[in-house]
Parts: sequence; structure tokens; C-alpha cells
Amino acid sequence: MEGSPVKQSPELDRIQQNMRPLCLCQQGFLGNDPRKLIEILTEDQGTVNSLGLSHGNIAEKLKAITEKARGGWGDPVVVEDKFEVEVHEARGRMPCPWGHPGLYPKTHIRLEKIETGENLVWSDLAIHLIEEHGFYQGRGSPYRLDPLKVKLILEI
Ligand SMILES: [Zn+2]
Repeated sequence: MEGSPVKQSPELDRIQQNMRPLCLCQQGFLGNDPRKLIEILTEDQGTVNSLGLSHGNIAEKLKAITEKARGGWGDPVVVEDKFEVEVHEARGRMPCPWGHPGLYPKTHIRLEKIETGENLVWSDLAIHLIEEHGFYQGRGSPYRLDPLKVKLILEI
């Protein structure tokens, strides 16, 4: 119907408005993963179960390391004699894509395992997404936390 003057209803305007930030988030959270969200959630849930872990176990470990490293104010902190961890606080805050109230600081946490050089990056919001939603982000997202990789590196 190209060129025909179709008027969009106010309701559709509102829905489209809601989609905008969500689409930006999806880009960041989903990386180049072509799968539907439900598929990503289901596969990671299966992996977490098969590892004998829970989303809570994983989130707690990430939280504990983050808290220990926060005192470094961006300088590397050695945590548990095994990890070198830097916590950078960026300006601005991000909402949870599930629409939880509240905004999460744009923290960037980088961990390197001293013995192997393996590394992981995450954010405060990433911990929330694991804990509350079992969401480890899509393949290709810079903040993807593959549950198997997390278990092996952090020795959970
Ligand atoms: Zn949430």
C-alpha cells in the first residue's frame, strides 16, 4: 500500500515508541544471535542444570567478586588469590529490558584468571539478568556469559 495515507492509531504509536529502547537493548543484549529469546533462555537453562548449578549460584559468585573488586576504583584488585579484577563505573544507567523498575549502573567489570589469562566481562545489569531472568545474553554480545565458561573460569 505504498503511498496510501494510512493513519496509525495512537495505540500503535505508543507500542512503536515502547519498541525503540527495546530494540537498542536487544542489539546490545543479543549480539548477533539470530535465535528467539525463548530459545536462548531454554538452552542456557539446560546447560546450567546439566552443570549442577542454578542461576542463583552463578549470580552470587559474580556479585561476591564484584563487591571485593569495587574498592579498587578501576585499579586491578586480586580476588581469592586467583583473579585480577577491575571495576569501572561508566556514566549513565540502564533499564532492565524486562521492564523492572529501577535503573542499573553501567558498570564494566573485567576479570582475568591469573594462572591462565582467561577473562570474563560483565556488568551489574548482567548479574540481575542472570539472577532474575536466567538470561546470559546472546551469542556475539560482548557481555555474553556462557554458563560453562563461567563455571570453568570461576571454579564454581
Ligand atoms: Zn529485570
